[in-house]
Amino acid sequence: MAKVILERDKCIGCGACEAVCPKHWKLGEDGKTDLLGSKKEDNENYVLEAEEAGCNNQAAEACPVQCIRVE
Ligand code: SF4
Repeated sequence: MAKVILERDKCIGCGACEAVCPKHWKLGEDGKTDLLGSKKEDNENYVLEAEEAGCNNQAAEACPVQCIRVE
């Protein structure tokens, strides 16, 4: 199992995560990215539990402000 965490308040809306992993990431209308299928935790953190990390690893590596974590 993989846990993908987005600290959405840090997102600058560059679109890199969507470019490398469009299955899981999509820029929202407010200019920040959405982690598709995730649940909002406390504050502005969103969490997705997935079978495999898949391209979320690439999304985490591509993010210039390190607001994506994969555990
Ligand atoms: S790569 Fe990071 S900063 Fe860029 S849109 Fe995705 S989460 Fe936001």
